[in-house]
Amino acid sequence: MGEEATRTVRTRLHIASGDRSWLHEARLVSREIFNQTICLKQQGCTRTEIQQEVDRSDFLRNNKCAVVGKALQTWDSYRSLLDWWLEQETPSGGKPTPPSTEKDCAYPLVMAYKEGYDLTVDDNTDRVQFRLSPKPYKHVKGHLRGAPDAMDELKRAVSSDEVDVGQAELLYRDGVYYLHVTVTREFDIPDPDQADTLVGVDINERNVALTALDRETMRTKGSLVLDYGRVKQERQRHHTIAKRCRKHGKKSIHRKLGDKEEQFTEWVLHRLSRAVVEFAELFSNPVIVFEDMSGIREEMQFGTYMNRRLHKLPFYKFETFVSYKARWGEIPTDTVDAYYNSKTCSCCGERGYREGRRFRCTNGECDLRQDHADRNASVNIAWREKVKLDSDDTNYRTHKTQPQVRLVRLFGSGRVSRPASSRSLAEQGVLADS
Ligand SMILES: [Zn+2]
Repeated sequence: MGEEATRTVRTRLHIASGDRSWLHEARLVSREIFNQTICLKQQGCTRTEIQQEVDRSDFLRNNKCAVVGKALQTWDSYRSLLDWWLEQETPSGGKPTPPSTEKDCAYPLVMAYKEGYDLTVDDNTDRVQFRLSPKPYKHVKGHLRGAPDAMDELKRAVSSDEVDVGQAELLYRDGVYYLHVTVTREFDIPDPDQADTLVGVDINERNVALTALDRETMRTKGSLVLDYGRVKQERQRHHTIAKRCRKHGKKSIHRKLGDKEEQFTEWVLHRLSRAVVEFAELFSNPVIVFEDMSGIREEMQFGTYMNRRLHKLPFYKFETFVSYKARWGEIPTDTVDAYYNSKTCSCCGERGYREGRRFRCTNGECDLRQDHADRNASVNIAWREKVKLDSDDTNYRTHKTQPQVRLVRLFGSGRVSRPASSRSLAEQGVLADS
């Protein structure tokens, strides 16, 4: 409880007044400050000494301090990377080199809120207005543009006491200036034990399956399977192209494709994790429950089946993204044992097996003949949470009527269809009668 977390809200600048060249110049000065900071650090100066030494009359004092701070962070990352490298007995790759002090290209302009930059919400237009001070007595003004949820986040931050607006960084790409604003918020995350709704999450290389059960009655409140099969195709495609490039010695293309693949996976993970949190938010006092993979990783006695489950997609990253976004929505997360969640019938608790995408129960008296195998697993995960919270290990899975599973594709089916918003994806999983 009372945890703090920061997040970066990404926006574009729509400049209405002031000179764009001031922004460019300030970013060049930022580079000079960066170079000077690294040089002084290499000479053994302390942070305070550096702050005193670096002095620019054409720059806001406060901005200078912020840029020095960012440069020192870069230095710290280099140092910890170097320490790690030195600890290795047979280090692979070259020795890390210190950050360059030779570059003369622009560097992000870092600004403190209310000092180097200011934000206000215009009551008439509902826009977030900005005012940047790239140089003393020189202001650039306008409004910010961004994704609707990012803008909502920022408006909340600017107009509420609960969210702290922190530093912002001014970046530039392809003719557009971007402002990345850091916001910090304190959270009061309830204990999982206070939950009324248990949301089981099962992830594998094709789907994320979600099921929300009422903790009291264990009736299904909602269920959703998000299909992201296209990601696998995309990864495969990149892999094939990359292999071909490697064969022909085109290293740079290979690297670029690697980045692209990484970015794509990252984007998908963000979308998926947001849909998970938004699904949970549709129910009262939810707790999001994952399988605890850490135990399995250590034991590794589950053979190829589990190994395959673990290594297909960065599941750990997915879990981190979900937890992070959940915390932002003040939703607790929890983990349960992963044993047999995929092989247990969510209806009667007996073992069953997977047949393609379906789950088949082997219990002759069980009414569950077929269910989506991944959804079945997500129900079991929610059940395990029930057992964990209420320390009740009697198996009373007697709900014969399993709701129809809703399968939603993350990317739509046709080429022209725009991806649906994660909120509308999430809403498709709520049962009408709950
Ligand atoms: Zn069964």
